[in-house]
Amino acid sequence: MTGIKTMRFGSRILAAFWIVLLVAIGIPGVYIYYSLKNDFIETSRKAAFENLDFVEWLAARQQPFASDKDIDEWCARFARQLGFRITVIEPGGRVAADSDVAWNEVAGMENHAYREEVKTALRTGTGSSIRYSDTLHRHLIYAARQFTLANYPSPMILRIAMPFSEVETRLNEYARQFWLINAFIFALALGLSIYFTRRFESPVYQIIERIRKIGTGDFTHGYIADDGREFHQLSGNINEMADRISLQVETITRQKYELAVIIENMREGILLLDKTGRIKAVNHAVEALAGCRGSCVGKTPMEIFLNNEIQGACDAVIAGTPEYSFTLELEEDVFYEVYLTAIPEGGALVVFYNVSEQKRLEKIRRDFVANVSHELKTPLTSIKGYVETLLSGPFSFTDDAKSFLQTIHKNANHMSAIVDDLLQLTRLQDKPFSKQMGTVDAAACFTAASETIMPMALEKNITIHNQLKGPIAVKADESALIRVFGNLLDNAIRYSPEGVAITARSMTEAGKIIFAIEDEGPGIARQHQSRIFERFYRVEKERSRFTGGTGLGLAICKNAVAGMGGEIWMQSPPGGKTQGSTFFFSLLQPYNPEQKE
Ligand code: ADP
Repeated sequence: MTGIKTMRFGSRILAAFWIVLLVAIGIPGVYIYYSLKNDFIETSRKAAFENLDFVEWLAARQQPFASDKDIDEWCARFARQLGFRITVIEPGGRVAADSDVAWNEVAGMENHAYREEVKTALRTGTGSSIRYSDTLHRHLIYAARQFTLANYPSPMILRIAMPFSEVETRLNEYARQFWLINAFIFALALGLSIYFTRRFESPVYQIIERIRKIGTGDFTHGYIADDGREFHQLSGNINEMADRISLQVETITRQKYELAVIIENMREGILLLDKTGRIKAVNHAVEALAGCRGSCVGKTPMEIFLNNEIQGACDAVIAGTPEYSFTLELEEDVFYEVYLTAIPEGGALVVFYNVSEQKRLEKIRRDFVANVSHELKTPLTSIKGYVETLLSGPFSFTDDAKSFLQTIHKNANHMSAIVDDLLQLTRLQDKPFSKQMGTVDAAACFTAASETIMPMALEKNITIHNQLKGPIAVKADESALIRVFGNLLDNAIRYSPEGVAITARSMTEAGKIIFAIEDEGPGIARQHQSRIFERFYRVEKERSRFTGGTGLGLAICKNAVAGMGGEIWMQSPPGGKTQGSTFFFSLLQPYNPEQKE
């Protein structure tokens, strides 16, 4: 099989053609030879029986014979005239007379009862066979028949034998001529088939060569040297195909070059990981960032950045997390926003945005706010102190003056609350919690917050349903978590009418605990919902001020929750209700090795 597979295309066609030719000539040839042979045998057999009839007739006319010797003489005489051997055999097989054997040797001839033709004649009356005669050393055709001789009690067997070699010689002559003609036809067909195959093979090899060249990027036009119409058309088609491939290759190469130029010159760092998590490609920005010019490929992110956070994020995305992003401080005051995206075919794309300038400006702004708040705190404390002294001291004021002092006191308190919240907010934004974070019981934090707020609730006759079944372990900063619960409860009480209920619930979801504070207050219209976590964003400015709000409570909650690795959001009205709002926030559960992601 491998032999055929490694043969040239033309040789395979030739081999197939010759096999077909041999079968086409050989099978009819063999069939004709054997049909002819059978025909000849049949004709010879018929002739032998005709001759046997004649001899039998002669013998019948010649009898009676006095002895075996008389028969033998008669056989010898007629056999000579007729040109074939005549034998007379007794039913037991003993030879009584034989034309081709001298009379004195006849008695010594072996028993003929088992000669095929004799055996058949004894059984059925007539018999014939073709075989080699050991007596005469050539092929003979024998015909035998039972016949009755006067003076002989039981029927004898009369047998004649004619040479079969003549028939054989003729047959062989026919066969020789037949194969001679066939050999000539075969030789002619061989020559012609080689000639035509070579002609047909040549354009096929030209096509193979053209396509091989196209594969190596040689798109120059070429024509197949052949007068066949199909090959002419085929070479036209191949040229068209070469043009199209050339155009596409050119476009792809150009686009690839353009893309490479863009990626190489981007200020953002781009890093491509293969499915094993090793670096496949980086752009210039990443090389500069990691200081690994030209030698990043094939390494792990850890090897070039020496940073656990990047390696951890890459491992997570390679392991199946579709997206991941975090802020990376590579060195002091150098910040990168890192975005990781899984590639469907395996591997990941990592993009580094330098946000150092943005962070610097944010810090300047935060410092400014913190400084202003700080600067305002002392004069405000002083104003508050003096006003309180004036109001509670032994001074006499007109009613108007007293009312002015009370307004000053109220506004100074409000300003002081704003300054406190601003300082709190800048502190939250400045320092991430990572150092203070630990495993905290959220239910205990809620109890602490609700106890502080309880006088306010009692004042408005509001019931707090605490459905948090403690302890609820979360990853958090304890005072920040108490502040978050406190702010949400404070809002729920301040904005709800008297006598309603507030419910606190928690639920577990994929490694997180989600807390919900639900109230029956006025709710928040849809258009405000996306903005209420911004600083100083108030739905109704007057209502907020009236209730003593600073406009910073939810912003503090948002920053505190984000700092603890969670998220905050709200729903108003809550599912299945017509009024009120629910504030949700999530916190991570502490790491538990038995817990499945
Ligand atoms: P404030 O100090 O004004 O309450 P917050 O940041 O705490 O500031 O809240 C922002 C705004 O969101 C509030 O001014 C108020 O209009 C709205 N808000 C907050 N909580 C609730 C609540 N539970 N029900 C209705 N409105 C609320």
